[in-house]
Amino acid sequence: MAYFAVIGLGRFGTTTSLELMHLGNEVLGIDIDPKAAEPLAERLSQTIIADATDERALKELNLGNCDGIVVAIGEDLQASLLCTLNLLNLGIRCLWVKAGDSAHHSILSKLGVRNIVHPEEEMGIRVAQSLNYPMVNSYIGLGHNTYIVDVNITEKISSKTVGHLRKATGNQVNILLVKRDIEMFHHPDDNFALQNKDHLVLVGARDVLTKLGPLLK
Ligand code: ADP
Repeated sequence: MAYFAVIGLGRFGTTTSLELMHLGNEVLGIDIDPKAAEPLAERLSQTIIADATDERALKELNLGNCDGIVVAIGEDLQASLLCTLNLLNLGIRCLWVKAGDSAHHSILSKLGVRNIVHPEEEMGIRVAQSLNYPMVNSYIGLGHNTYIVDVNITEKISSKTVGHLRKATGNQVNILLVKRDIEMFHHPDDNFALQNKDHLVLVGARDVLTKLGPLLK
């Protein structure tokens, strides 16, 4: 079990803190507004009403013991930056900060914050990707344009083999797994015959994976 603090209990902070609780962690929720903190009093390990721009108030909370701190003050740029600066001054490094826009992002990045999140933009990209690639169930970006994707096999290509798909990408995609109900087939060879409703987990460069789109649609 780990111990986290979430500062700013708006929609993003509330969702993050409740999910951390759901995953079995302890969570301290902090908000300047009692109306934001009070509804979570029974649902988080502890809630505190405090102004996170006040360095002394933050110091008293002993946040140095936390395994991670989320600054979820999105709208108020000044409050978010002051709070982040205070946490950095207190020697806290494991920080995740929500940025409202690109100026906010640039300043956080200059302050040395490595985990900067843009929930609306990131979700917008995910929704657009899902609409554009309906066969993709989920994906993880690994950086350098490389992705792990989980795709559905439809009836259209259910009689084809793994080799057929691999060939369509010029052998540049790595097929990690075929999931068939609860069965898992790791690193299937080229003769492996796909079935309708299989899930394929692949890794490859984005432009290579895109070549599979017309086949899988
Ligand atoms: P969301 O879009 O996720 O709802 P908001 O920016 O609307 O995010 O909400 C941020 C939360 O941060 C609000 O509940 C607000 O009361 C809180 N907040 C703003 N300034 C401070 C501060 N100085 N200290 C602590 N909490 C703050």
